[in-house]
Amino acid sequence: MPDAILRLALPSPLRRLFDYRVPDGVARSALQPGMRLRVPFGRREMIGILVEVADHSEVPADKLKPAIALLDQEAPLPPALFKLCLWTAQYYQHSLGDTLSWALPVLLRQGEPAEARQERFWQVAEGASIDDSRIARAPKQKEALRTLAQHPHGVPHTLLSKLMLNRDSLNLLLAKELVTVEVRGHAPVARHQHWLAQPELALNTEQRAAYEAIRSGFGSFHASLLAGVTGSGKTEVYLQLIRETLEAGKQALVLIPEINLGPQTLARFEQRFNARIALLHSAVNDRDRLDAWLAARDGEADIIIGTRSALFTPMKNPGLIIIDEEHDGSYKQQEGLRYHARDLALVRARQEDIPIVLGSATPSLESLHNAYTGRYALLRLNQRAGGAQQPRFLRLDVKSRPLDSGISGPMQQAIGQTLAAGQQVLVFLNRRGFAPTLLCHDCGWLSECNRCDARMTVHQRSGELRCHHCGHVERVPRNCPACGKVDLRPVGAGTERAEERLAILFPDYPVLRVDRDSTSRKDAMNQLFATIQKGHPCILVGTQMLAKGHHFPRVTLVSILDADGGLFSGDFRASERMAQLIVQVAGRAGRAEEPGKVIIQTHLAEHPLLIQLTEQGYFAFAEQALSERRAAGLPPFSHLALLRAEAHKPGQAEGFLDDACTEAEHLLKEMALGGIELLGPVPAPMERRAGRYRAQLLVQANARAPLHKLLALWMLALENMPSGRQVRWSLDVDPVDLY
Ligand code: ADP
Ligand code: ZN
Ligand code: ZN
Repeated sequence: MPDAILRLALPSPLRRLFDYRVPDGVARSALQPGMRLRVPFGRREMIGILVEVADHSEVPADKLKPAIALLDQEAPLPPALFKLCLWTAQYYQHSLGDTLSWALPVLLRQGEPAEARQERFWQVAEGASIDDSRIARAPKQKEALRTLAQHPHGVPHTLLSKLMLNRDSLNLLLAKELVTVEVRGHAPVARHQHWLAQPELALNTEQRAAYEAIRSGFGSFHASLLAGVTGSGKTEVYLQLIRETLEAGKQALVLIPEINLGPQTLARFEQRFNARIALLHSAVNDRDRLDAWLAARDGEADIIIGTRSALFTPMKNPGLIIIDEEHDGSYKQQEGLRYHARDLALVRARQEDIPIVLGSATPSLESLHNAYTGRYALLRLNQRAGGAQQPRFLRLDVKSRPLDSGISGPMQQAIGQTLAAGQQVLVFLNRRGFAPTLLCHDCGWLSECNRCDARMTVHQRSGELRCHHCGHVERVPRNCPACGKVDLRPVGAGTERAEERLAILFPDYPVLRVDRDSTSRKDAMNQLFATIQKGHPCILVGTQMLAKGHHFPRVTLVSILDADGGLFSGDFRASERMAQLIVQVAGRAGRAEEPGKVIIQTHLAEHPLLIQLTEQGYFAFAEQALSERRAAGLPPFSHLALLRAEAHKPGQAEGFLDDACTEAEHLLKEMALGGIELLGPVPAPMERRAGRYRAQLLVQANARAPLHKLLALWMLALENMPSGRQVRWSLDVDPVDLY
């Protein structure tokens, strides 16, 4: 009998499996697909995942090396997740080994044992009281005890900071025996009869209809699009669906956008349920991530909340998937494995035969199209749950009006009136920094980045010019680098400049800026929001960070300084993104008694998409935009794949793409595939970036099946193409950004 051959997926970009012999001392019967093995690879070692055990190999016997060691006694990767990874690798034309490596927690990739560490839990001691005289004058300890009391099953040590629980206070409480800390192992906690730690809200009519519709599809695959205006109570619907899921003895997976994972989101789930919640997002360290992953896999976590990559969390008893803010761009990974977590979540729900809910106030055109064509149930929530009014939209035509740091006269008046009425203003400008360019008034020199085809942004406070594309930083020059004169002027306005100008125009009110530069300090954001919650009149200036997650009940005016970028951009998705941003920002305002008003400065006040959006709302806009996409044959009415290449020398990327194009034409003819167009190659919209020359080739197809047939063979051919050696290239299936 021939020796068994191990076929392994290795973390390599090559789209193939690698054959090895069984390591010494390991019986064939001990080997299961999904197990990890350490293997020699060139001069290095790698950790691979066993895909299958075969009887023979194409590789000559004397070239076959034995694997070094088997790392698992049981496959850490359950079959369902393995199946999802296989599908993902095929669909995105990515190597299986690399796909598995994106999907697995870092520590498993590195060969750590797939075992959970024991964890410490903090809990209120029996008989402890918030009125204990020993903490009467210790407000921090009191606060900590009160927060802890909201979690009758204890709080794991790793979640303390997420729940704003202060460790010093807890240690003082521990010394007074008002709280306990215990180490809990892997053993499952006893099942509770009462999943609710807090009563549920009575659903309103719209919420109830949506809830009932989704619940009636429980137990098998059903996709629903919960399209509810901001504040309509989508989260309450999710929470009640999750309670149903828990009662059925199943687990729920909730995906949220990167930025949304504030302590508020987590607290809302923590407060509602007596349930074990596993958290997976980018700020969770590798060890905690592995623990959460294992707990979910073994059925020891009831609710799994995480960002994009949490989609790859295995579940023992999957019952429900929720994708909150399904339109959000952060669900698409833009490097390496370029997957879309929302799209994959649908695949997963179908594979596991469970319901999935996509929620948003501004659904993506793709999802709306799926709803209109009957693939998803469309459930709408049109009323704000708290009874607040929808904001009113006004287009402010700024053609030939002077702009003062980007702010027109009528806009300044509206801001002044709102402040005088004791209310708050939100000024939205999706551009960081002081000004997008520095210009020499004498010779016309512009602050161009020498590594990119882009201008460097002026950051006045730090005295720097920064390239937002490659990260290059320089001091702001005193004299023009070209002519030596001193008349250098910032052109255009970013949030820093708007902030500075508003502070001069309205000296009696605080002006608070929220963008990546202002909030990089830890907790700066939370302090800022605490100030805003107090409700005193003030001006908030910020980028899209303002559009997400937070509620500003005292904001009654939203000033959008620039909507035009979204209306004449070369990117066909720009208008969709602009509309979503405007509606999301607007949704932050006027939640309480005062209705909100949204004023949009534009040079294109008569643009049909902008008129639809402001006069008839997001859905009218979306229908208009969808009909334009249909007429132009753009997604979702066609399917795209983008082949990108970049190289150090000009022409190299295009050379490779020319060869790639010839190869694709050849394959199309050979396989007699129709309905596919090759567009390009063309230079990327920003041809040079971080010192590399970039080009792209777009493949547009009427149908998916032929597209994927082509892609599979094409990628194998490209891997062996000589001109590919000098370039970096990648394929993006269903690209979101076309550059
Ligand atoms: P969304 O997720 O759609 O933005 P939320 O679920 O955050 O909306 O709800 C907005 C506000 O309305 C929250 O303060 C929430 O507590 C409240 N709310 C939601 N549903 C109800 C309800 N049925 N009755 C009363 N208040 C509700
Ligand atoms: Zn000059
Ligand atoms: Zn640059």
